[in-house]
Amino acid sequence: MKGRGLFHAYIAVGSDEAARDAFILKLARSAVCSGDGERPCGVCRQCRLALAGAHPDIIFVERPLDDKGKPKRELPVDSIRKMASSAWVLPQEAEKKVYIIREADLMNVQAQNAALKLLEEPPSFAVFILGTNTAAPLLPTLRSRCESVFVPGERSYEPSPEAERYLLLAGRGDLPGLCAFLTDCERMDSAQVLNMLAQIRRSLVTSLAYGGESFEGSPELAARLLTMAERAEEFLRRNVGVKHVLGWLCVGVDEIQL
Ligand SMILES: [Zn+2]
Repeated sequence: MKGRGLFHAYIAVGSDEAARDAFILKLARSAVCSGDGERPCGVCRQCRLALAGAHPDIIFVERPLDDKGKPKRELPVDSIRKMASSAWVLPQEAEKKVYIIREADLMNVQAQNAALKLLEEPPSFAVFILGTNTAAPLLPTLRSRCESVFVPGERSYEPSPEAERYLLLAGRGDLPGLCAFLTDCERMDSAQVLNMLAQIRRSLVTSLAYGGESFEGSPELAARLLTMAERAEEFLRRNVGVKHVLGWLCVGVDEIQL
């Protein structure tokens, strides 16, 4: 997490569960670390406690167990409410306390709304990390409260040729070219366009968070394209036709130019 401030909430996206968990733990260690240089330093008391899995301010919110001792299917609102009330208790060891929801996509809508309420006015000393293999099941309102970060080194992170083309044209400000490309995408079905938009969004978010090679344009342009991609995905999920959604994107792109 070199050179970056700490956000109060993260969505850690990655399809490989083990890699994602490792990434989340590193993020949590960065939050509690009291080292002076790059965090986590790995040697301070906070890091050592965290590495031993014994840090009292790193708290996991897991699915409750059913009668047979198996995890329930969903992460219910009660678990989030419990987290919300304990989140206001000061940390014991570190300056921050970290809540980790490893399977944030298993929160039902009620639970997500409870989490949203907390993230709208979070305790200043709390950091929340939501792990998921895709951000899609999370409410847009909840996503907007979090910094999305992608587990580095994931192969699925490589954008498809279509997503790459979109990012190249958009980044260069070739908006007529982008519009022509979008018209060409009408041959794709809804699932393919959704997939492309998700990859575009992923690249834009990463470029906003880290800077980066995948997008040459300004952060302002990236932010606008990101909002448009999110809305286009919403439309497609509500079964608006591909042609309409791509047409809408074209109009939006054209307006950026003005
Ligand atoms: Zn440390």
